This record gives sequence, C-alpha cells and structure tokens, in this order.
Amino acid sequence: MKKIAILGSTGSIGTQTLDVARKNKDIEVVGISAGRNIKMLEEQIREFHPKLVAVWDETAAEELRTKVADLQIRIVTGMDGLLELAAMPESDILVTAIVGMIGIRPTMEAIRAGKDIALANKETLVTAGHLIMPMAKEYGVRILPVDSEHSAIFQALHGEKHGEIHKLLITASGGPFRGRTREELKTVTLADTLKHPNWVMGQKITVDSATLVNKGLEVMEAKWLFDMDLDHIQVVVQPQSIIHSMVEFKDGAVMAQLGTPDMRLPIQYALYYPERRYLDGERLDFSTLKQITFEEPDMNTFLGLPMAMKASSVGGSMPTVFNASNELAVKKFLEQKISFLDIYDIIQQSMDHHTVIENPNLDEILTTEQAVYQWIESRW
Ligand code: NDP
Repeated sequence: MKKIAILGSTGSIGTQTLDVARKNKDIEVVGISAGRNIKMLEEQIREFHPKLVAVWDETAAEELRTKVADLQIRIVTGMDGLLELAAMPESDILVTAIVGMIGIRPTMEAIRAGKDIALANKETLVTAGHLIMPMAKEYGVRILPVDSEHSAIFQALHGEKHGEIHKLLITASGGPFRGRTREELKTVTLADTLKHPNWVMGQKITVDSATLVNKGLEVMEAKWLFDMDLDHIQVVVQPQSIIHSMVEFKDGAVMAQLGTPDMRLPIQYALYYPERRYLDGERLDFSTLKQITFEEPDMNTFLGLPMAMKASSVGGSMPTVFNASNELAVKKFLEQKISFLDIYDIIQQSMDHHTVIENPNLDEILTTEQAVYQWIESRW
C-alpha cells in the first residue's frame, strides 16, 4: 500500500490527486486538509476514510467535527494541525497541493519526519529552496515534481546524467493575453484573466499564468529541483500546451514529454515513480494534431517573467519578496481591488524597497513575508 497525506485536498491538484487514488486501489489516503471547505472535506472523509484531517479555520473545524461525529476521526486545526498532518506516522508521501508560502513549514516538517514530497506547492521551493533541497538530501527523502513542466523535465532526465544536461527548456502557453500590448492589458477584467486557454486550475495560479509570474516561479522552481543556473534555463512559448517541457543535452539532443493537459499524469508519475501506470482520459491524436508552434516570450509586456529572473539572480530574500508581493497582489486582484497591471507595480515596488538578506533562514523568510505584506497594505 502507498500511504499518502494531502495538504490542500479540496483544491484543483488535491481533487485530482484523490482521483488518482480512487482509480489505484493500492493508494491509501491517510490524511487530508483544507482551508475552510468543509462541505467537500466531509465528502472526501466519507469516501476515503482518512485517519487525520487538518482544517485551517477553527470555526469550520468545529462545524466539521459535528458533521462527522459518527466517525472515528481526528480533526486538527491551524498551523499546528498542518504540521501534524505533514509528519503523521501513517504516511509515506506528502502531496503538497496547498497554495502559497504557507506550505513552507509543513513541507519542512514532513522532510524531517522522512516523508517523500510530491511537490505542487512551488511557492515553497521558490522562497526556501536553499533550505529545502539540502534538508531533503540530509534526511534522504525525494522531492518529486508535480508541476507539469517539472514532471516533463524529470521524465526526460530519467536515466540521464546531470553533467550531460546543456539546458532546460520550460514551455509556456503564454496565457489568455498572449499577443496583447501593455495598453490593451490596462482594461482586462478578472473574468478575462480567469479564462486560461488550455488548463483548468485554482484561481491564484490562473492569474499567475496570465501575468507570466507563474512561468517565473517555475524557472526558480526548476533551478532548485534540477540544480541548474538561470543561464541554462530557457522559456519557450508553445501555445497549444502539448509539449510540457524539454531538456537539451550536451550533444544537442532534445528530449521532450508530450501529452494532453491532464494534471493527473504528473501526479500519478510522482506517486509511483519510477513506475508508469495506466491512466484513463484523452490521448494525443497525431492524425488530427496538425501543428505545434513556438514563440519567444514577450518579456516587455508580461513583466512577471523578467522580474522573477531578476529576483532569482539577486537571490537571498529577494525571491521571497517577489513571491509574497505577488501573493498579496493576486489576492487584491481577485477581490477586484486593483487592476491587472497593478500586480506588476506592486511586485516591482516591493522589490525596489527591499534590502536583501543573504541566505535567509526560515524565520527571516517568514519575517520578510510579513514585512512585505505590511508595506503593501500601507500603500495600496
Ligand atoms: P487551489 O486554490 O485549487 O487549492 C488550494 C488548496 O489549498 C485548497 O484545498 C485550499 O482549501 C487549501 N488551502 C488554502 N489555504 C489554506 C490554509 N491556510 N490551510 C490549509 N489549506 C489551505 O490551488 P491549486 O490546486 O490550483 O494549486 C495548489 C498548488 O499547486 C499551488 O502552489 C500551485 O501553484 C500548484 N500547481 C497547481 C497546478 C494546477 O493545475 N492547479 C499545476 C501546477 C502547480 P480550501 O478549498 O478550503 O480553500
């Protein structure tokens, strides 16, 4: 039996992970968690019978306790609850499908407890990759990528030597506003932004895809996961989202992973690595697929990518500032308090204002996060 716990089981990645578990009878879901969506949690509890459930919100947790009073189940809350879920003795793998920097502490707790990590929560690696990767090595645990681009690279690297990689080619759809000018972006609405051309995902990552912040976060994530410097990571726009990413080797050979846009494939690959299992769903059909096209990313209009590259090359606490300012800006955009282009202004000004801390420890990362939030709140 493969025993998994899921941080964020009610979200886009969380529910697709449960779908993989539903179809593979040798996966046991021992722990699940959410912010406050107890309606879905109750359904998941009754279907999967986990031993432990973590709910961030205290009031929602209390309500859930009443709803499932007929079951033998422990419900824990807040950060202590997430930490307990992350390190629960019954699990082998933690799927980090929670959104945002809140995932850092539970991920570290799971590593300390010897759990492999199926990592979707890229914000954790972006801000604390310099702590997480050495820790994973020290505790002998695997960080298995769930993000489709990183899974594609992971698959292309299977059986290859690190020293033979020339560069990583991360593909991007370009998002819903590909081809638009900055002038045109002034008037885009929240509804326009949430219409991703190829993928159905949580709201935060969907906005990040439109700003290309997501691609920037992915570049930083790839840097840590595959131990590559920024000069050897290239973003290639491939609007059809058929090639999920590629690796170019020293001899010029390029290996790519292709498929339909279905996150269950990278989730299942991470859970069973290095084994492949049958997966239902659509397949690529090369008799109807007529073309795959490529473009360069528009770095002058979609500032999320160049700002991320800058934050990553500065290093230290700057990726935390980039990420935290984006998290709050996206929250405000989702609440319709700011415009699309304000997201870039908030990130840029937060980065300009920050004095870098070299090699920040966990406390310094979390303090920087709070300082960024306070600074933004005092201005916007
Ligand atoms: P969603 O917004 O769909 O889901 C987020 C999950 O986290 C929900 O279960 C939510 O619970 C839970 N959550 C939020 N806040 C808290 C909290 N304070 N305590 C406990 N749980 C909380 O996000 P996605 O699934 O889209 O994304 C999750 C992560 O995976 C992100 O880091 C994203 O970048 C990454 N990713 C996502 C992809 C996708 O296809 N969706 C692709 C690649 C990476 P509740 O429902 O109660 O709010």
